[in-house]
Amino acid sequence: MTDRYAEVADRFGTPVYVYDGDLLRQRYEALRSRLHPAVDVFYSAKANPNISICGLFGALGAGIEVSSLAELVTAVRAGVDPADVIFLGPGKSAAELRACCESGIHAVVCESLDEVLALDAMEIADGMRIVLRINPDFDTHGSRLSMGGKPRQFGIDEEILRGRPAALTGLRRVRVVGIHAYLGTRILDASTVLHNTRGILATAEATAGILDIPLEVVDIGGGWGVPYFDNETDLDGDEAVDGVNQAVAAFRERHPDTRIITELGRYLVGWCGTYVVRARYVKQSKGEWFVVADGGTNHHMAAVGIGSFVKRNFPIRSLTRPDEPAEETYTVTGPLCTPNDVVGKRVRLPEVRPGDLLGVDRSGAYGPSASPVLFLSHGHPAEVLLLDGDAHLIRHRDTVDDLLRSQRLVPLPVPATTAAAPERTSHGSR
Ligand SMILES: *Cc1c(COP(=O)(O)O)cnc(C)c1O
Repeated sequence: MTDRYAEVADRFGTPVYVYDGDLLRQRYEALRSRLHPAVDVFYSAKANPNISICGLFGALGAGIEVSSLAELVTAVRAGVDPADVIFLGPGKSAAELRACCESGIHAVVCESLDEVLALDAMEIADGMRIVLRINPDFDTHGSRLSMGGKPRQFGIDEEILRGRPAALTGLRRVRVVGIHAYLGTRILDASTVLHNTRGILATAEATAGILDIPLEVVDIGGGWGVPYFDNETDLDGDEAVDGVNQAVAAFRERHPDTRIITELGRYLVGWCGTYVVRARYVKQSKGEWFVVADGGTNHHMAAVGIGSFVKRNFPIRSLTRPDEPAEETYTVTGPLCTPNDVVGKRVRLPEVRPGDLLGVDRSGAYGPSASPVLFLSHGHPAEVLLLDGDAHLIRHRDTVDDLLRSQRLVPLPVPATTAAAPERTSHGSR
């Protein structure tokens, strides 16, 4: 496999994200085969929005959960059946709502009562199916970034709906057909999955009763994690599936026809990506060794490890010397002019020489799309998908022209060469 990386790097250059499509398929199918048949898996496009990744999930039978016009168009152009697309997000534009109706997606997940009313007022929304995103009362725990149970811009508080049982009675065009809740991301504890699923299904049942809406759909969220750092243990996928199945089986006894949706991003793609960079310089500073690579946190912001005081490293390995013992210590940095551009701090690696390839593993989710790719105008890295023995370029590296295409140079004042010398100002000295 390490030879594959060298091949890809030679052919497409570095820095490059390499996605293992065979592993992706394997992970999806392993999940699908164990999951209760009533549960439909929707891939959360924001985890890795490349059109080939979305298309691959669609081809495997997954639905797609999108959160912007571009993601919606991506799913449609990737060949995903609109009946297996949902659109979610706290601040949808009128154009996005219109596009949902025009393309006939399965449902719009509404995050406020005003959004329901706005959609209901649109002629094109006649017959559109709506799922209400609820911010449940019940306590959540175990996710690294929680989105429910506290004040949030997402969804509608369960408590508010309880106090307004008639909130949805005057609708003319849209049909509210279900409930959605998503409680947080990076869950690594299977018991949390069971706890959340049970809680969301109970909340859906109670809320639908109060509002007098059918439960054609319940979206139980997801947020299953991938361990990145050495203090984290992997989510037990089988146990998580058992938890979901158990909760869903009990729910289906009362609601045999409800479509259950689970949305997963990171869990499905996180393991399937490696960020491949090439060492440009290996240098020493005050006793520490640095590898300065051709790509850094401009493409892999997650490696910065925001939100914790201790910088923890993603798994990093030498792709050039995979069989040599990791007996050296390097801090791996990128090309940015900021000390924060550290991909790995004091990483144990075999000797690294200029030209060597390094790989940051488990980087298939929230990579370039969640990174400041425009910082220093380096642009988006190339992306390659390995599938059935072939390496496909699924996004080319931004060129300088790509980066400048959307900018405009204003007509500049002609320098007044004959005029008196301007007074010196303080700008321009940085
Ligand atoms: C981001 C998001 C997801 C995907 O989260 P992962 O942790 O990547 O699985 C699913 N649903 C909603 C509502 C989200 O905001």
